[in-house]
Amino acid sequence: MQETQKKLADSIRQAENGIDYFAKSGAFCPWCGEKLKVTDTKPWCGDSRIRYQKCINIKCPLSTIDKTIKSIQSL
Ligand SMILES: [Zn+2]
Repeated sequence: MQETQKKLADSIRQAENGIDYFAKSGAFCPWCGEKLKVTDTKPWCGDSRIRYQKCINIKCPLSTIDKTIKSIQSL
C-alpha cells in the first residue's frame, strides 16, 4: 500500500510540474497511461505551450480526485 501512495504522490507531483505533450499523440496520464482530455489550452509562450488536462479513466485515482494535469508542448 505504501508503494501505491508513493506512486500517487509522484503522479500528483508530475501533474503539477507538467508532463510532456506530444504534437501527434497528446499527453498521457502519469498514473494509468490513459490519453488525457484537454480542458484548457494556453497560447504559445516562446517555444512552449501549456495545456490543462484531465484523466477520464474512471478507475484512475487522478480522475477520482478530479486532478488537473498540466502538460507542456515544446517546439
Ligand atoms: Zn489516469
